[in-house]
Amino acid sequence: MVGLCEGGNEPPGSSKANKIIELQSWKGVANGVSGSEPLIQSDLSSELSVKLQRAQNMCVRYVCNIRRNGSNHNNLIEGIRTNLRLVENDRWLVDFGWVKAHVGNYGNELADRLAKQAASDVDLQICYDKVPMSEVRNQLVVISKGKWESEWSTTSKGTLTKAFFPSVQDRLKLKIEVTPNLTTLLTGHGRLNAYFHRFKIKNSATCVCGDGDQTVDHIIYDCTKLGKERRTLIQSIHKCGGKWPADKTKLVKSYVKYFIKFANSIDFEQVQ
Ligand SMILES: [Zn+2]
Repeated sequence: MVGLCEGGNEPPGSSKANKIIELQSWKGVANGVSGSEPLIQSDLSSELSVKLQRAQNMCVRYVCNIRRNGSNHNNLIEGIRTNLRLVENDRWLVDFGWVKAHVGNYGNELADRLAKQAASDVDLQICYDKVPMSEVRNQLVVISKGKWESEWSTTSKGTLTKAFFPSVQDRLKLKIEVTPNLTTLLTGHGRLNAYFHRFKIKNSATCVCGDGDQTVDHIIYDCTKLGKERRTLIQSIHKCGGKWPADKTKLVKSYVKYFIKFANSIDFEQVQ
């Protein structure tokens, strides 16, 4: 027996919904529904095993998961897994593989037809309406992020951080290694005289350069003690065709690599 997977030309993982529909269709095929002959045909040899091409798409990953008794407990997967155990207990040898689409493969064509029917026929009676746990999880993440974005846009707190990241979504897209220096610049919380003064740890907020309070803005744009570090940052931005001064949003959006390098090159000990 051959468990089939959608073949064809679409890129791997391009349509999860379609894959699920096809798996559902496949399950129907295996159960002999839709008035069609079941894929598991009694006249096939129990020793029949067809090795097909290397697994290429999401559907194959699903069946690999099935084979490994993996972590995916989607209802459809569990159904297929149960059927698989049943036939294997009956000494069937089952293999899964990728097959080319639209070349007349009986099971694949049938799965395609059922999937298209399910997608296009609005009057078709719904025979499966379970929602996978992963979909519930995805929806909760979407809702949570929406709530987070809304709170972030309306809060009066975190003004400095908001100057760098006006949008939560943009920040989440950014994969950065957070260091103490970077956190100091992105939040204003750290070894800055302005911060120490605010919490009465230091008597003065003035920077050691004597040219104003030691704030994040001062460190990034003005402090003469950090001329060398800033020049490196500016040169890198100029090489990218950018202009200086760049605002904070731009620094983390367009020049984040150089900005992180600048942040980490600061020796806060020296400017205390
Ligand atoms: Zn300074």
